[in-house]
Amino acid sequence: MGEGVLILPPDLVERIAATVGTPTYVYSADVARSQVATLHRAFDPVPHRIHYSVKANGNLTILGLVRSLGVGVDIVSVGEMRRAIVAGFEADGLVFSGVGKTRAELEEAIAADVGLVNIESEDELELVAEIAALQQRSVRVGIRVNPDVTTQTHPYTQTGAAGMKFGVPEDRVLETAQRVLRAPYLDLVCLGMHIGSQIVSAESYGEGAEKLGALVKELRAGGVDTLTSLDVGGGMAIPLYGKPGLDAFEFAAAVTPTVRETGLMLLLEPGRFVIGNAGVLVTRVLYRKRCGGRTFVVVDAGMNDFARPSYYGAQHDIVVVGNEHGRAEASETVDVVGPICETGDFLGLERTLPPLEAGALLAVQGAGAYGFSMSSNYNSRPRAAEVLLDNGRFSVIRARESIEDLWRGEVVEPEWL
Ligand SMILES: *Cc1c(COP(=O)(O)O)cnc(C)c1O
Repeated sequence: MGEGVLILPPDLVERIAATVGTPTYVYSADVARSQVATLHRAFDPVPHRIHYSVKANGNLTILGLVRSLGVGVDIVSVGEMRRAIVAGFEADGLVFSGVGKTRAELEEAIAADVGLVNIESEDELELVAEIAALQQRSVRVGIRVNPDVTTQTHPYTQTGAAGMKFGVPEDRVLETAQRVLRAPYLDLVCLGMHIGSQIVSAESYGEGAEKLGALVKELRAGGVDTLTSLDVGGGMAIPLYGKPGLDAFEFAAAVTPTVRETGLMLLLEPGRFVIGNAGVLVTRVLYRKRCGGRTFVVVDAGMNDFARPSYYGAQHDIVVVGNEHGRAEASETVDVVGPICETGDFLGLERTLPPLEAGALLAVQGAGAYGFSMSSNYNSRPRAAEVLLDNGRFSVIRARESIEDLWRGEVVEPEWL
């Protein structure tokens, strides 16, 4: 079993499954805490601030946990902003990112006085300037740069290459910065990037940071002297399915020279790194069947609960919970599939597992990030429950959705206007 695999006490998982049912996301508070501590240790040599990315896992209890560690948040919608505020974050601890913020979202965020708005286009800059002037409120602005860095990850989780929708192209940054300076209510305080997700290469971060560093010099030479921070984004990979993650210390070594040279405060926006390997998805085996020469284990979690295998082709370890199965000597090669009416509905293909019977419990590892937060009600399935473990105890931090929740807001007899 690879590095980063979280093995929860089987008796506890069985108790949770018996009490809360399955499928259920189970998170370890300790793992999340130690991931944040690792980042702080790695970046100890430079002034830095961590802003946890809410979209990885926005559960209110998880947000409260990261807040208690002195971390801020990175948000990409007003829904995430409200979550963060409900969880107790101060507005100035929020960094508002995202390529398509609406006017209503910007109005609400500016009125709330969020700590930083990272703009991604010159059009957005105009809108932010207009709203700030209307509200007569000063806004701290960052420019998200597209540093044209390609890196090895799934094409859908690459965001820092030229020709992608994210960020302001390098050759437009100076002009954009000068436009920010001319806007009476805007303060340009940050240059940033976010090059993608599940990135294993420290060099990619180093390359991106150097480009940001060069832009800082260019801006300073062009009369921009208001910068206070450099944001290298999130995307740090976790170990998954036998593949290593990004080493926090190598990552730090790649970006700190640039941070030192600029003298700016470093901002980090990790999501997956904090919560990914702190969570598992617990699911129960429903059936075992053979069909066309393959053996299928049908479980009660599907692609609506955990989209990553189907959507990104992501591979996650699947382990058997409990000794009676784990100890079995024999093994077989099976496809672990969900109940959804889609052939792409699988959690893992061609996995070697001990022979499984109906009722066995499985844990899909590394499911703490982009697990629940990407889940849906497809096939009219209520979304899973979420449970937090801390100090040998557990707590249900999100109740399983009810069947009635599924049609909230719908009507049988429409009212015509
Ligand atoms: C999604 C996102 C992150 C977090 O990405 P991870 O891969 O979860 O670390 C950070 N910053 C921005 C702007 C994002 O969109």
